[in-house]
Amino acid sequence: MSPDKNPDKKKKGKGRKATLADLEPAPVSPEDCVFCRIVAGELPSWQVYADEHAVAFLDINAWHRGHTLVVPRRHESDLVSGASALPEIAPAIDAVAHLLKARLAPDGMNVLSSAGVAAGQTVFHTHVHVIPRYADEPGFAHLVNPGEAPDGELESVWQQISAGGA
Ligand code: AMP
Ligand code: ZN
Repeated sequence: MSPDKNPDKKKKGKGRKATLADLEPAPVSPEDCVFCRIVAGELPSWQVYADEHAVAFLDINAWHRGHTLVVPRRHESDLVSGASALPEIAPAIDAVAHLLKARLAPDGMNVLSSAGVAAGQTVFHTHVHVIPRYADEPGFAHLVNPGEAPDGELESVWQQISAGGA
């Protein structure tokens, strides 16, 4: 069966394939961007690292204990749009991964970024997920744990990572 004839790829009830235009949300301006507001200090976050180009803070819906987001200070919608922020945030990604490894002693680590709705992106300010992984929930099948972190977990892991101060 050719991809065009695959009914799963057609929009329900419309008899046509979904296109990127169906999926992509309208661009977010920096004023309305939750991560720009965190970078500016207008919204709270559990910050674990900051440098000239990047800020890193705990993901509020952590997939695994210590799940951290590294975001560039400047607004760009995703890692492969506009002037890529990857070179300027690479040192922060490296520093955060090593910080989490040292403080949390995970069994493994995932480093990933989703670019575009089709890839699963939900916040349209570039960010890289740095996710400590533990042997009791191994592999890609357990990468995404739905739901919010239990009460108190973000504070306790932040204490462990930052030893009391970011
Ligand atoms: P993605 O789905 O790859 O775009 O990742 C966006 C991530 O941002 C999700 O894992 C959310 O849980 C996380 N997130 C959204 N709002 C906040 C916030 N205010 N503080 C920390 N993490 C957030
Ligand atoms: Zn932004």
